[in-house]
Amino acid sequence: MAVLKNSLFVDGNEFFLSIVQAETFPFGIEHVLNPSDAGKIFDVLKKKGDSPLFLELERNGKKYGVSLFRSVKDTAKQFWLMTERDGASDGIPIQEVAQKYQRLFENVKDAVFASTVEGRFLDINPAGVEMLGYTSKEEVLKLNILTDLYYYPEDRLKYQKIIAEKGYVKDYEVVFKKKDRTPLFVSMSNIAVYDEDKKVLGYEGIFRDLTRQKQIEEELRAKNAQLESYVYSVSHDLKSPIIAIQGFSRLLMKKHGENFEQEGRELLERIMNTAKRAERMIADLLIFAKAEKGVRGDFEFIDSQREIQSIIEELKIKWKQRPVTFVLSENLPEILFHRGSFRQIMSNLIDNAIKYSQQEMSPQVFIDGRKERDSVVFSVADNGIGIDPSLHEKIFDVFERGEATEDVEGTGIGLSIIKRILEIHHGDIWVESKKGEGATFYVRLPARTLERDERHQ
Ligand code: ADP
Repeated sequence: MAVLKNSLFVDGNEFFLSIVQAETFPFGIEHVLNPSDAGKIFDVLKKKGDSPLFLELERNGKKYGVSLFRSVKDTAKQFWLMTERDGASDGIPIQEVAQKYQRLFENVKDAVFASTVEGRFLDINPAGVEMLGYTSKEEVLKLNILTDLYYYPEDRLKYQKIIAEKGYVKDYEVVFKKKDRTPLFVSMSNIAVYDEDKKVLGYEGIFRDLTRQKQIEEELRAKNAQLESYVYSVSHDLKSPIIAIQGFSRLLMKKHGENFEQEGRELLERIMNTAKRAERMIADLLIFAKAEKGVRGDFEFIDSQREIQSIIEELKIKWKQRPVTFVLSENLPEILFHRGSFRQIMSNLIDNAIKYSQQEMSPQVFIDGRKERDSVVFSVADNGIGIDPSLHEKIFDVFERGEATEDVEGTGIGLSIIKRILEIHHGDIWVESKKGEGATFYVRLPARTLERDERHQ
């Protein structure tokens, strides 16, 4: 099966490609027919109008019957149906072909649709209705594609531009909103439908549920299980000597404490404190290993304004001893992300903004979030102790802490957890700061959780 348009094969199935020994679409009709035959066919087609044309072809010693019929919607387009023959030469009756198409439309598991340039569906098959979470075709035909269906309306504009230039899009990835507002990641392969004057009338094509999300989760699950078991065994091995050090030093203090001078006792206490700290670090290492667990949830549309407000409420309780001023910008964007991961990122950053405040100043935290071209960037700024530029990269590593942190509780793992989560999501984190002048942390979440194919740009 193939689609012939203005002497060009623009689309078709694998079987067709293999018969005519071509690799990809589009290619000219002269690859299949010699030019004079092609010219004759087009002459006949013109005369015959809407009735189909049947012809015989030979490729590599095999005979094929070809039914060629004109698209009703787009008269510049011909459907090319090629069937292997064993000598018989009669073509396939058009009714049979039409029935075949109808069956395919009704039963295929991909969504098949026709839509207008303005953004209404003209037709959609049952698989499409189901994929979008609606119960009837009528409901879907009422949708405004741009605003009701596209999560990023600019994706449709981009798509229209590409299709206007090339006449088709292939494997174009977008995010739709289902009826219940959950996201649907699809890949579309569509062609433009033209009128007599070559003006685009609308689009026809398919979209396919990507379920890439599930694939990602599967991959993560496997990776995570590996990492987790490694960290578990390492921390288990480390734990027992540390507990032994704690136990023996406590015993030493209890039984022989009075035999020590003051300095000896102090040293012993330092041993105990260090062991305790090592124990906490191991516990945090486990949290780090589990960071990916939070990624296992589903992608959701999140109202970041509300989510951050609720994080602030939680932190206000934690920091009720210190008066903190929170300044949260208005109209923060909606994002498509894992709720648990988003909360972990923002609450770690805001908590740090308070933790690393200056003694003499009451902490102020400014939180903002803006939609940019292909991403959403959040920022958390404070009036705290700041970070020397030489440490801007280092603080994101596991167990790395900045200067003058002895009196501040922590193990240096919070930022590495954020970095890890963002790595998984193809996001980014960075800091702008000078010592003593507060710090601003930026987090970039890609608007698309799916990597977009550069071919589409
Ligand atoms: P922790 O807070 O447990 O030390 P983090 O990974 O969250 O671990 O932070 C690493 C280091 O980065 C901190 O020890 C601190 O020196 C520095 N840091 C993080 N946030 C801020 C901030 N808002 N202002 C100043 N320094 C910060």
